[in-house]
Amino acid sequence: AASGGGSEGKPSRQFSIQFADQKQEFNKRPTKIGRRSLSRSISQSSTDSYSSAASYTDSSDDETSPRDKQQKNSKGSSDFCVKNIKQAEFGRREIEIAEQEMPALMALRKRAQGEKPLAGAKIVGCTHITAQTAVLMETLGALGAQCRWAACNIYSTLNEVAAALAESGFPVFAWKGESEDDFWWCIDRCVNVEGWQPNMILDDGGDLTHWIYKKYPNMFKKIKGIVEESVTGVHRLYQLSKAGKLCVPAMNVNDSVTKQKFDNLYCCRESILDGLKRTTDMMFGGKQVVVCGYGEVGKGCCAALKAMGSIVYVTEIDPICALQACMDGFRLVKLNEVIRQVDIVITCTGNKNVVTREHLDRMKNSCIVCNMGHSNTEIDVASLRTPELTWERVRSQVDHVIWPDGKRIVLLAEGRLLNLSCSTVPTFVLSITATTQALALIELYNAPEGRYKQDVYLLPKKMDEYVASLHLPTFDAHLTELTDEQAKYLGLNKNGPFKPNYYRYCSTTSLFILP
Ligand code: NAD
Repeated sequence: AASGGGSEGKPSRQFSIQFADQKQEFNKRPTKIGRRSLSRSISQSSTDSYSSAASYTDSSDDETSPRDKQQKNSKGSSDFCVKNIKQAEFGRREIEIAEQEMPALMALRKRAQGEKPLAGAKIVGCTHITAQTAVLMETLGALGAQCRWAACNIYSTLNEVAAALAESGFPVFAWKGESEDDFWWCIDRCVNVEGWQPNMILDDGGDLTHWIYKKYPNMFKKIKGIVEESVTGVHRLYQLSKAGKLCVPAMNVNDSVTKQKFDNLYCCRESILDGLKRTTDMMFGGKQVVVCGYGEVGKGCCAALKAMGSIVYVTEIDPICALQACMDGFRLVKLNEVIRQVDIVITCTGNKNVVTREHLDRMKNSCIVCNMGHSNTEIDVASLRTPELTWERVRSQVDHVIWPDGKRIVLLAEGRLLNLSCSTVPTFVLSITATTQALALIELYNAPEGRYKQDVYLLPKKMDEYVASLHLPTFDAHLTELTDEQAKYLGLNKNGPFKPNYYRYCSTTSLFILP
């Protein structure tokens, strides 16, 4: 098992994680993997993981390609390629802010002061380069790893953060606005280095893994494992595995319970209001809102809006989710029944054509229409591109679509995911993912020969529980420990796992709706 630092006075039950028996087949993995579609314009994979949208400085005035610049950090190293190394100080501030909301990684760093579970690890990474990723990279460094990093998305790099990482000695090859050629060049600069060969991969989208398979297949002889975050990348790994072409063990971080819960339920509960507010400045109290779909995302949206004093209606096709909506105090309706009266329509179904042109025709003046689901086909936006309707871009990501009689609807992000397009994602959500990635790397790197085969593994319940437990101190939360007698009675190990794999956890919103 992987080993790490002690646990501050408590029995160290956590760094020692056994989960080889948790192997899951492709067709047994959870089905809810389709999530987000912040589309990368050029490279093959989608970027269905998060990046923070905020950028502190604007360096668009400098047109010189970073590839053509000679830059050195203050220690004289030029083993990096970023937009402008002089932005490092701004980036450092962003990283320090992110650290405040990433308690588990900071706890891992503290524990690693004595032990270095990643000593000797040479990790090549390809993720969004944001302040949150920087906290992860610096944690991996503190745990003993050497890292080289490229961006998984040509637009999402925060230049100042990349500069801060380069300044502190991380070979980072990334900037905002890379071309396709730049994108692959950066990945290649991370991998194709004299005197340095990776032995671990941390990927988000599968492009890095794909590049190594294509260009440097021999590298896999030394690689101990792949940790993959995104829906798309995980899908590619399962495909490789099915075809018998996966030559090292891989960890599917995307489908861990904590990640799914935080991404879908809690993240949407927070970001729906943020996205609506930033785009429309609207007040929610007393507004009539219809939320289509009462799954995890819908539950989060409904809870947030209800807490703000909105009158919330729900539409559902599944009687179980419909009953949950009723029990949580929402009126279950058909969209047709409320479409004339509502102020906001939000889709969260993962389905298509949930809001049709007929619905759009019947909406009242100034109705806001947006989507929180994966695909931009939940609202039939294409049906609004007809000659009799006028489109007016009033703000970035906000269009007024105007009918001949003067009625207008407010369409947000052209029907794409509202929160990813128009707001940021809470750092705390990214903390869960980043901690899971760090633990998956520790486990794969330290696993004895034979524990993992050339297959894709889901993260075990015990690891999920550990990730959650590392976030509890933020809230000064005190976890009850089972007594020996209780553990025996329930047939559990006192240190977990506490639930069977099929346990679904509670997804009702009534727990967090304000009275
Ligand atoms: P889910 O399966 O838990 O919920 C979707 C619900 O929609 C289901 O209960 C389903 O019965 C219902 N539904 C399907 N068709 C419907 C229709 N025509 N009318 C009314 N209800 C309908 O899925 P989820 O986890 O809630 O995710 C929903 C979507 O949001 C997915 O596309 C997912 O990829 C995406 N997602 C978005 C974010 C984000 O940050 N915006 C985060 C996670 C997931």
